[in-house]
Amino acid sequence: MTESAEGLEQLRVKNRELAEDIQRYLTVFHRHPHPTFYLDCQGELAGMSEQAVHDFLGDSGQAQGPHALDRLGWLREAVESLPQGSDATMRREQRLMTTSGPRTFVVAVSRAVDVSGQPMGLVVALTDVTDLRAAEDEAERANRRLEQSNQDMRDFTYAASHDLQEPIRKIISFLELLKREIGPDMGEEARSYFHYVEDAAHRMRQLVHALLDLCRVESRGGRMAMVDSTVALEQALASLEMLMEETDAVVSHGDLPMVKADLTQLSMVFANLLGNAIKYRGDEPPRIDVEAESANGEWTFCVTDNGIGIPEGQEEVVFDVFRRLHGRGEYPGTGIGLAIVRRIVVRHGGRVWVESTPGEGSKFYFSLPEADADGPE
Ligand code: ADP
Repeated sequence: MTESAEGLEQLRVKNRELAEDIQRYLTVFHRHPHPTFYLDCQGELAGMSEQAVHDFLGDSGQAQGPHALDRLGWLREAVESLPQGSDATMRREQRLMTTSGPRTFVVAVSRAVDVSGQPMGLVVALTDVTDLRAAEDEAERANRRLEQSNQDMRDFTYAASHDLQEPIRKIISFLELLKREIGPDMGEEARSYFHYVEDAAHRMRQLVHALLDLCRVESRGGRMAMVDSTVALEQALASLEMLMEETDAVVSHGDLPMVKADLTQLSMVFANLLGNAIKYRGDEPPRIDVEAESANGEWTFCVTDNGIGIPEGQEEVVFDVFRRLHGRGEYPGTGIGLAIVRRIVVRHGGRVWVESTPGEGSKFYFSLPEADADGPE
């Protein structure tokens, strides 16, 4: 083969490869699953992917030409709203009429430039987000329904426990009168029955007060402000002074941070956790340590005790209302303290959990968002 014939053959091969490349890219454009449009430098519609033709023109669709844009007014509008500048892009969400009805799309417009940076026109790509938005709307509606039913439940609990106070107060005061009146004449058996009734009435009052405390976490929650968590801990310790003396309890703590919180509620959290750490002590005097660590935009507090621990598998239920792992004869209580802790922590945008080894002790953790992180107002 002569040199020029060889050169010609190479050129032919190159041309064929180029044509194949163009064909490949055109196929990618036309078969793209998202409706895609191409407009030339004059702003005329120069190409539509198969999906775009199917969605916007139907079978009889005239995909190109000077009048094609007349039927796609939104496309002209989207293109005209693109800011100047070679790398300008525009994205917006729009409800568009397709051949199968109205659908919601994210419309993205960007300038197409060739390898040397010369403008070639505009590309408009659509992403159908109708189903996604419908699912989001449904999730939001479900959330609102759930929030409403939670609120109804809270209102009901508050109203019921509030209204129960009066009859309970009456029962207790008439029991006292009755005891004064006929107490001395009561036989052994009647006296023990009377004692059961009295005990039940007092317990009822205790439970109702505990429920009211739980309801008040939201209804009487104070404003969040920057507070020193050491102060919250000290307030809790002051309220437990007698119990600590009686049990020889020692509480130590590391550096505790400033956090955005309702100080009264934060000290309630500490009081409940420390109170439990002392109440559920083992044979040794209680040794309790409070630490805080910062990671991933939140503070994690940990209250470690050397108490009886929590049996495996019960670590979550202890935070449920009225859930107790021990009889009242063993340890007094209402089973609401940890539910209050959880509600307060959740109100502050945090979480609470426990890790425990039965017979060795427990670690109660709770997290609070760091002050500059997005916490609740
Ligand atoms: P209460 O102490 O009034 O029973 P809580 O809601 O404070 O109610 O606690 C729920 C249950 O969790 C308790 O009954 C107890 O069984 C268990 N518990 C809580 N704190 C501890 C702890 N530090 N160590 C072992 N068990 C605990």
